[in-house]
Amino acid sequence: MVSGNSFLDSLAVHTRIRLAPMLTLRALPKRQVLAASGAAVSDVCFPLRSVISTVTQMLEGATVEVGLSGHEGFSPLSVAFGDLIGRHTTVVQVGDSAYCMDAAAFLTELESDPDLKRRTQLFAEYSFAAATQFAACNGLHPVEERYARWILMVDDRVGADFSLTQEYSAQMLGVRRASVTTVARGMADVGLIAYHRGHVSVRDRAGLEEMACECYAAVNGDLLRLMGYGARQAPVAAPPPPAERVADPLIGYLTNSAGVAALNETIARNVRCRADMGRSRALSLGGRPGS
Ligand SMILES: [Zn+2]
Repeated sequence: MVSGNSFLDSLAVHTRIRLAPMLTLRALPKRQVLAASGAAVSDVCFPLRSVISTVTQMLEGATVEVGLSGHEGFSPLSVAFGDLIGRHTTVVQVGDSAYCMDAAAFLTELESDPDLKRRTQLFAEYSFAAATQFAACNGLHPVEERYARWILMVDDRVGADFSLTQEYSAQMLGVRRASVTTVARGMADVGLIAYHRGHVSVRDRAGLEEMACECYAAVNGDLLRLMGYGARQAPVAAPPPPAERVADPLIGYLTNSAGVAALNETIARNVRCRADMGRSRALSLGGRPGS
């Protein structure tokens, strides 16, 4: 069985074995602040089916999302650069769970494990590429296309049904809450999503992919190129409630036949995902006028 965090599951076996005793499965309640701007970073978290938003706050109080982390990586990103003082605030936007470890211990591991350091640097490069892509997206692409892209990104990470506050949606889009409601209702009217009191259910994923701007495929392509896996969370066996599994030894997955079989399955899934992504990008580049 795999952990469900693609970053952890993509690490070398010897790295996973060494990190396993340091990882603790934690519930991540919605709206929990994991790291505050300017404060010391205590933990680095590797989400499973949760979404952690990185936000920046302006002097007048307005906040805007500048990054999003799910199963594909970890949060906060500052640890990738050896920084234990958070520049941004990270907050749980879609609650579920994550494996977490002491941030200082993670930095120590980075210094002693070249493979882990290289994987961490690649994820930092992906995150930078995504941030610059979305900065351009926010300035150039219509809000409807950005909202479709964003719904797909969350769907990839947590599944087709999730709860989102209007405040979060407005932060992500950089628009007013009323505009979020208008866009969401418009998509619901044409059957792309169901939307009620902030709860979103994807109804027509193919239609959303058609509506989304090119940035969705571009960023997913960067993730696949740099990390070797896709953005869409693969089904994994549901972990027991965090309260029943305080220190989950990933090492157990690697020392039995079921664990080896699951690892092989993950590798095969990544290969299939890579092929799917290639077809998706080809369709996107060839079939969307002006893209
Ligand atoms: Zn865009």
